[in-house]
Amino acid sequence: MQTVRELLKFASARLGASDTPRLDAEVLLAAALGTDRSRLYAHPEMAAPQGPSADFLRLLDSRRNGFPVAYLTGEKEFRSITFRVNRHTLIPRPETEVVVEAALERIPALNRARILDLGTGSGAIAVAIASERPDCTVTAADLSVGALAVARENALANHVANISFEQSDWFGNLHNRRFDAIICNPPYVRYPDTGLPPEEIRYEPRLALDGGHNGTACIRTVISNGPGHINPGGFIIIEHAHDQGGFVREQFRVFHYRNITTGHDHAGHERYTCAFRA
Ligand code: GLN
Repeated sequence: MQTVRELLKFASARLGASDTPRLDAEVLLAAALGTDRSRLYAHPEMAAPQGPSADFLRLLDSRRNGFPVAYLTGEKEFRSITFRVNRHTLIPRPETEVVVEAALERIPALNRARILDLGTGSGAIAVAIASERPDCTVTAADLSVGALAVARENALANHVANISFEQSDWFGNLHNRRFDAIICNPPYVRYPDTGLPPEEIRYEPRLALDGGHNGTACIRTVISNGPGHINPGGFIIIEHAHDQGGFVREQFRVFHYRNITTGHDHAGHERYTCAFRA
């Protein structure tokens, strides 16, 4: 007979190539057993008489091939909210939580702000902000119909009603609409000439990651078109790679934004830049 403790030991060893084998093993075993990690901690001697189930072995194999844990469980936590994710959406990252925090600090209290999450993916930014700021209305836009379906599901599951969805290629379908705050996590990964993505993101949608040769193609599009979509006094906040801050600040200057400030993620890297409409 095997116990939860033994299954976790077995699974961690199989996942030795992951950065976080024990954590992955716990999350996947909880998923296979239809329970959560806290129950595994509470009952390490819980029996699994049949040994590892076929489901659990399948999950371990996929993980060994580099398939992300969040796609295997179908969910990822972001700012204490559980988001559904699938292969149409980027998996929300902890560094983006910092971007949401920075946006919330800058949205004035009780002014019924209109907020745009441009390239919403799973809806993580839009749903997190809409649920914390019920006085505001949030528009979540994405080019990907598959991603928008997931984002809608996440809004519903989290009972967030002050949100609407638009299918749009950046500002393409937003016509003359203006917002008080625009938050954008664009694709900013450099794709080399081979067109092959870096190893760790090869399962995530290229549409959400590919920022062209120097990673800045979408950033440039968003910044250059931003002024036509921001209300006076409004701002845009854009996530970028640790080494793109200089480029982003320069683009904001070129397009006459003001109060340009860059903030850092938890690892101490430059991760987002905010700028106000002139
Ligand atoms: N932070 C992500 C990564 O490095 C990239 C996200 C993005 O392009 N928006 O994998």
